[in-house]
Amino acid sequence: MPFLKFRYQPKNELEEGGRSAEPVPQEESEPEQTCPNCHKSIPISALRANMNVCSCGHHFRMSARQRIAMTADEGSFCELDGSLRSSDPLMFSGYQEKLRASEQSTGENEGVVCGECRIDGNPCCIFVMEPGFMMGSMGSVVGEKITRLFEHALERRLPVIGCTVSGGARMQEGLLSLMQMAKTSAAVKRHGDAGLLYIVLLTDPTTGGVTASFAMEGDIILAEPNATVGFAGARVIEQTTRKHLPKGFQRAEFLLEHGFVDAIVPRSEQRAALSLLLSIHSEGGVI
Ligand SMILES: [Zn+2]
Repeated sequence: MPFLKFRYQPKNELEEGGRSAEPVPQEESEPEQTCPNCHKSIPISALRANMNVCSCGHHFRMSARQRIAMTADEGSFCELDGSLRSSDPLMFSGYQEKLRASEQSTGENEGVVCGECRIDGNPCCIFVMEPGFMMGSMGSVVGEKITRLFEHALERRLPVIGCTVSGGARMQEGLLSLMQMAKTSAAVKRHGDAGLLYIVLLTDPTTGGVTASFAMEGDIILAEPNATVGFAGARVIEQTTRKHLPKGFQRAEFLLEHGFVDAIVPRSEQRAALSLLLSIHSEGGVI
């Protein structure tokens, strides 16, 4: 009866001719990262597109390869000593497992990536530490790769650019790790004595034995905004000295104010800054 049909009220969506009972496939939501500064959630792709910098200016950590891709001319990077891997000389409990886990999560063999590249056409050697590999800690292979890079740069008469991020010496290698400070420093000195340029870019965090050696030995020392740079942790210093530390202690801006850093360069300006510094210091440079 047309009248009854007219009055009929569907009891649910299926009777209404609506959606089927099949579960609707949910679109996979994009992973997000929360900014520790402004607390906004940012989709990873948006972060990547902005060089891992939040709209509030917070600089997230980035992998060594990402940084090289952002800094070097496309296709110009040629890796050196990429196959060197750490052994476990002291048979330190759990070290092998930590190394394998870092290899798997980063796809790197060690905590630093070294090579030769061009920046805006300027040839240079570059090393970039990898925060994902045991927090860029310096074991014997990290020290060896950096030493070899300076020796290679000396032979080829090239400047070196070093991007540091490190928790310091790698405790699992004990004394062997500590002696990398002297070894890398000697290589930096030989390179410098030959009149060659070394530029450091300190990124968050650069601490411990790395700060106490090659990270602070550059002819020009740049830093990323708000990067933590120091030797011992602030809490340890406070407990030892029993003094209240000033605001901003061990931050890049504090170091700039106190003469340890030459300039703070935001990520978006780093390539241009490095290119300018390299060209000024090349033979027959721009100035
Ligand atoms: Zn933010």
